[in-house]
Amino acid sequence: MTALRIGNGYDIHRLVPGRDLILGGVNIPHELGLLGHSDADVLTHALMDALLGALSLGDIGHYFPPSDPQWAGADSLELLKQVNELVRERGWRIANLDSVIVAERPKLKPHLGAMKEKLAAVLGITPEQIGVKATTNEQLGPEGREEGISAYATALLVQEN
Ligand code: MG
Repeated sequence: MTALRIGNGYDIHRLVPGRDLILGGVNIPHELGLLGHSDADVLTHALMDALLGALSLGDIGHYFPPSDPQWAGADSLELLKQVNELVRERGWRIANLDSVIVAERPKLKPHLGAMKEKLAAVLGITPEQIGVKATTNEQLGPEGREEGISAYATALLVQEN
């Protein structure tokens, strides 16, 4: 029987002026960007937590604590690569990932393909193994008021034989 593990991840970051908006490693033109110790790539952070959660390895705050200056301004794709190495070292590989970004603005649809390609390249999988979707929050809650952007992710892992 094939051994499978599933994990989920969630993250939210605040939108502020004077920061880049980076989602799935793609820099998206917008008048606001996400605030955080790293590049605040909320989608990549949710994906990392889903991968770690699938193997009960804790969360990204444990591996890359915001209190540690070495992660200041960190490229989250680099952190994702490290999390993927943890997964591979333990004898697991990604079957597929799925995710959704909750953002009122800007329109993310034109950028979803580029996000999938960047994430796939870092993870050593195909873009078809990664779902990246975007939805608005119908002007409700912090995402709807454009105070922040959140992301949800699911990871399915398969044990290597
Ligand atoms: Mg985060």
